[in-house]
Amino acid sequence: MSSGVPRLSSLSWKELIKLGDFGELNWFNSGLERKMGNGLNSSFWSDTWRGERSFRSKYPRLFSISAQMEASVGEVGVEPELGTEWKFLWKRHLFMWEEEVLLSLKEDFEGVRLNNQPDKWKWKLEDSSVFSMNSAYKRLVGSVLNEVAWREDEKGVFEMLWKSPAPSKVVAFAWRAFLNRVPTKENLVLRNVLAPEEQPFCGLCNRMGESTLHLFLHCDVACAVWLKLMRWLDQIFNSPPNLFIHWECWLGRERDKNIKNGKGIIWLAIIWVLWKTRNDKIFNDNNFEVDDIVEEVKVLAWKWTMSRMHIPTCLYFEWCWNPQWCLNQAPFRR
Ligand SMILES: [Zn+2]
Repeated sequence: MSSGVPRLSSLSWKELIKLGDFGELNWFNSGLERKMGNGLNSSFWSDTWRGERSFRSKYPRLFSISAQMEASVGEVGVEPELGTEWKFLWKRHLFMWEEEVLLSLKEDFEGVRLNNQPDKWKWKLEDSSVFSMNSAYKRLVGSVLNEVAWREDEKGVFEMLWKSPAPSKVVAFAWRAFLNRVPTKENLVLRNVLAPEEQPFCGLCNRMGESTLHLFLHCDVACAVWLKLMRWLDQIFNSPPNLFIHWECWLGRERDKNIKNGKGIIWLAIIWVLWKTRNDKIFNDNNFEVDDIVEEVKVLAWKWTMSRMHIPTCLYFEWCWNPQWCLNQAPFRR
């Protein structure tokens, strides 16, 4: 999704993206970012193209008297020789206080310059420079973790997760999965973004409802992936009822810090690749094979463990042959 507007395979998803503003759905909203080009593909009022909300929801009064309700950003902002000029049209004269609100709206997009390029979508979680570890931590802890009474062992999982050497965008994504804050179709229905009758079947198997648990643990596709990777790591357990227990079973009673970190990275790579595969299917209609997912997990986990655990001498075929041996090459014990 890093370039161009995503090609969507069904109308409901097209509508979903067009909505731009999902009301309470900030966790989804904040993952998508609009990179402004000529502004012609972005709705000035309804898309979230600057800040965390659409201007329509932030400034409902101004929207209600706008004569450009349907206008694109590029139609409101015209591009003369020097800088972008914003031309607003209203259904009537503004009251004094509305003028002040308008000033505040203008401040919100101060500095925006349109250009000749088409507008682009960007999934922020793909880019760690945008979605920093720190801001993710603060947001998650602030908005969620304090509201719920987590059990001690669950808190322990969060803590371990936070210390994982995996890339921050992946850790942050896993957090959202643990908190059930990933925009699965079931979550979108719960938030009234998708209508229930749209039959939001799982993006991977297209057979069952797409809950977080189903998608990452119980889906046939996910199960097949887990099983192959369990065999690779020489461990087997039955799929447990939730992600927390799954994480704990996966790490087992492992005492060796390097092995533990490495297995944590592999677990995160699986969640990450399952989600990417599911998005690629839904947004780009790209088909996949279980073996491709497994291979991608191994490659990603190999790259991440090598670079982030500073393992100097392990080749990919060695990694495939014996990951534990490779992890033991890590030069220091955390
Ligand atoms: Zn499924």
